[in-house]
Amino acid sequence: MTRLGELFADLDLKYPWRREAACRSTPGMHFDEALVAQAKLVCLRCPVKIACLGYALEANELEGIWGGYTPDERRRLAKIQQDAKPAPTALARQIRRGDASGGTVAASRNPR
Ligand code: SF4
Repeated sequence: MTRLGELFADLDLKYPWRREAACRSTPGMHFDEALVAQAKLVCLRCPVKIACLGYALEANELEGIWGGYTPDERRRLAKIQQDAKPAPTALARQIRRGDASGGTVAASRNPR
C-alpha cells in the first residue's frame, strides 16, 4: 500500500462515514473552486453529508466543499450555531475554571 493509501486507510478507521462518501472517486473536485457547483451536486446525493458537515464544522475545515457547504457557508453556519448556544450558567463557568468545590455543587443541588 502506498503512503497515501495508508493515510486514507487510517482516516477511514477514524471516520468510518468516509467509506460511503459519494466523492470518494473524485476527491479533487471538492477542492477546486472552478467546480463548486458540480461538487455540491455530488454532495446532494451523498448518504453521509450530515456526518461530513459535522466533521468539517468541528474540525474548522477552512477549504473545500464539505457536506455540500463552501467555507463561507460553513462559517455562517458555525456563527448561527455559536449564537444559538445558551449562555453558560454560573456553575458551569465555575467548573470550567476549576474553582467549583464539591460542597458548592452539592449545595446547589439541594438548596435546603
Ligand atoms: S457530503 Fe460531499 S464532501 Fe462530504 S463525503 Fe459526501 S460527497 Fe464528499
